[in-house]
Amino acid sequence: MTILSGLANDIFGILELGGRIFRNREVLRYSYIPDSLPHRENEIQTIARILISSLKGHTPSNIMIYGMTGTGKTVVSKLLMKALQDKSDLIRSTAQKTFLDLGHELNDPELSRLLDISLKVLDFEEIWGKGLSNILHKPVKCIYINCQQMDTQYRVMTQIANRLANYNDEDRLPVSGLPIDEVHSRLLEKLEDSNSLLIIIMDEIDRLVYKSGDDILYTLTRINEDLEKSRVSLIGISNNLNFLDYLDSRVKSSLGAEEIIFDPYNAPHLRDILAHRSEEAFYPEAVDMDVISHCAAIAAQENGDARKALDLLRVSAEMAERDHSPKLSDMYVKQAQKKIEMDRVSQVVRTLPLQSKIVLYSILQLKIAGRIKTTTKEVVETYSFFSDRLDLTVLGRRQVVNLMNELDKLGLIQTKVISFGRHGRTTVIEANVPGTEIINNMHNGLLSKLKGVKPRLIYNTTF
Ligand code: ADP
Ligand code: MG
Repeated sequence: MTILSGLANDIFGILELGGRIFRNREVLRYSYIPDSLPHRENEIQTIARILISSLKGHTPSNIMIYGMTGTGKTVVSKLLMKALQDKSDLIRSTAQKTFLDLGHELNDPELSRLLDISLKVLDFEEIWGKGLSNILHKPVKCIYINCQQMDTQYRVMTQIANRLANYNDEDRLPVSGLPIDEVHSRLLEKLEDSNSLLIIIMDEIDRLVYKSGDDILYTLTRINEDLEKSRVSLIGISNNLNFLDYLDSRVKSSLGAEEIIFDPYNAPHLRDILAHRSEEAFYPEAVDMDVISHCAAIAAQENGDARKALDLLRVSAEMAERDHSPKLSDMYVKQAQKKIEMDRVSQVVRTLPLQSKIVLYSILQLKIAGRIKTTTKEVVETYSFFSDRLDLTVLGRRQVVNLMNELDKLGLIQTKVISFGRHGRTTVIEANVPGTEIINNMHNGLLSKLKGVKPRLIYNTTF
């Protein structure tokens, strides 16, 4: 009992000591949607101007949004989606309240039906005005689809249909197994039943098309021809600017009716974005502007990716908090930068094919043994030694060279040809990643058998 309460005291002691940096951690998570997005005001206005016609009962043009990773495409579209949905709901609830005041109790389908009927009555239009009757005509519904996950025609169609269904509806479509024609007709049915103006956001749309072709886009861009009561409008989001070139020309002209490009952020932009988020995320004394500028400057060099800037700030703050430091300093930013880079490299290394792993492992072992710069011959011999130790098929020199070229492309090593004049030329290989840390990370699975095994041959060539 005493031990337990002592332990509990300790845990709370630690927690109490921490918590001097973060006021609200949620604010730095990917899923968080801030209420304002600095340096995207123009893009938001442009898209809003297109979408506003939906509130007047018209179908907005389809939109394509392009921009590199971390330029705010997803967060901007989610913010707009929420604002549009809220506005449409507000208009309808106001109308509902008006009918209630007049003594009618209505649910939404009844409201739609009544408005439909009322629209045909001259008086109604005269009283409400044509603009307002259009506004009240159809609810706007927004559906967000991440096409990296929903990457087939079947999955996209069922996803849309099921988002329109009630949660425990019996006629929700199964995630697989139906003929595609059936899914298509059930989707049409659901769309019609919803009697709405549907805005479908298809994020990472380029991935869907690379994986499954553009049939689904052909279907969706023409679906209004088969609908009577409902209308569909699409917003495609792509990291790749040339995405439309891959599409059928009819899909291309429909989907790209409006095109909007998100430029990468520069360092001052990122500084403003981070500063804005920091106000909510941190205690006021915990983070100074120069630390924020430092994070922004680093991320600006890496393609102006706001996600990387936010990651750097978040990881730095976590490190400072773990140290019970009252302040986030540049030292933590440097440490965080290292940690993020190590995590990235470890992730790349983890997903390498086994033989590539052993080639990299050999280069890193040579590095630790003092051969920071090494040669193809040394790598091939060391690789053969380790491969043999693991009872694997030992690949020939040419294949090892191919694997080294792959590792070079991934940025894990660097290969350079050096000329020795009349003594000929040689390829010099150098690892771009820290030896000991990566080697330790690689000592799992089959490669754990290599723990403590040193490369057999050490040469003395100098370059
Ligand atoms: P993309 O979809 O273009 O790859 P995201 O919309 O996912 O980029 O943005 C990456 C991260 O940066 C998200 O956490 C997002 O909230 C944030 N972000 C991007 N632009 C802004 C901005 N202008 N203001 C605040 N946060 C932003
Ligand atoms: Mg995105």
